Amino acid sequence: AAKREGRGNFQFFSPEMNAATHEHLLLENRMWGALHAEDFELYLQAQVSLDTGRVIGAEVLLRWHDTELGSVEPSRFIPVAEESGMIVPLGDWVLGQTMALLAQWQREGLDELRLAVNLSARQFSGGTLLARLDELVAHHGIDPSLMELEITETAAMRDPENTRQLLRQLRARGFKLAIDDFGTGYSSLAYLKLFAIDRIKIDRGFVQDIEHNPNDAVIVAATIGLAHSLGLTVVAEGVETQAQWGFLRDKHGDEAQGYLFSRPMPAADFREFIRLQVQPVPDA
Ligand code: C2E
Ligand code: MG
Ligand code: MG
Ligand code: MG
Repeated sequence: AAKREGRGNFQFFSPEMNAATHEHLLLENRMWGALHAEDFELYLQAQVSLDTGRVIGAEVLLRWHDTELGSVEPSRFIPVAEESGMIVPLGDWVLGQTMALLAQWQREGLDELRLAVNLSARQFSGGTLLARLDELVAHHGIDPSLMELEITETAAMRDPENTRQLLRQLRARGFKLAIDDFGTGYSSLAYLKLFAIDRIKIDRGFVQDIEHNPNDAVIVAATIGLAHSLGLTVVAEGVETQAQWGFLRDKHGDEAQGYLFSRPMPAADFREFIRLQVQPVPDA
């Protein structure tokens, strides 16, 4: 059979390919409608100080509740959005919504919480990001230092010189900059020297087995040390257990994010989560 499939036939239309193409087209088609129908929603996941467990901000994670498809996971639709270019208007919408939320919090006196947003490689290297951010900041009247932009190593290393300049300009505006999924991408330490960033986010993949896998434990501890030596702070992603929290605290990590502290949730729920947290606990 292998031989017969070898030459001159239509392998392109394998059932798997067909299903993947179909899925891609389906999502791509519905995504435009979803953006207009406001079927997208920002979810927020708390980031906490490792020492105190206090919430210092949140990461914005996009959710899509489609009327026909139900909930579509980012791991399904973000790659399609990236490939089709839809990520640019979608990402722009996320930036605008995030700033609107920061402005609202500022009015409500919640003026110390920071929001981190994910930037796609396309948004980052499209050449219009800086001007667009300036426009949005002016429109919403927010303090850019309350906003953190997360980029991945792979996105940063596509065009290092462009990245270097853009990050410098963003930082001059006051934006905070983080490298997401640290250790999974390009994994060149050179950019830590090259790029003006504020934080690194250690990927969940290194955190999940931290208590049982000695290599992961060493890598995480060394990464924290390296980051601190360079004047960067460290956020650990995907913290799910008390033991992981304890380990990271012992190694002097700065902040953490994960199901142990909070799941991603709608902004209104997050507001309530914060309110409950800061409520003084009565003496027993
Ligand atoms: P990410 O930026 O690395 O976000 C962290 C992911 O880990 C989120 O998945 C979050 O829900 C999940 N997570 C957090 N804590 C835990 C934990 O304790 N255990 C486990 N198992 N998972 C945890 P999510 O929300 O499905 O997003 C997946 C990816 O999609 C994100 O990874 C990010 O790369 C991308 N993404 C999400 N929203 C946006 C967006 O607005 N724009 C862009 N460009 N990408 C986005
Ligand atoms: Mg992220
Ligand atoms: Mg991440
Ligand atoms: Mg990740």
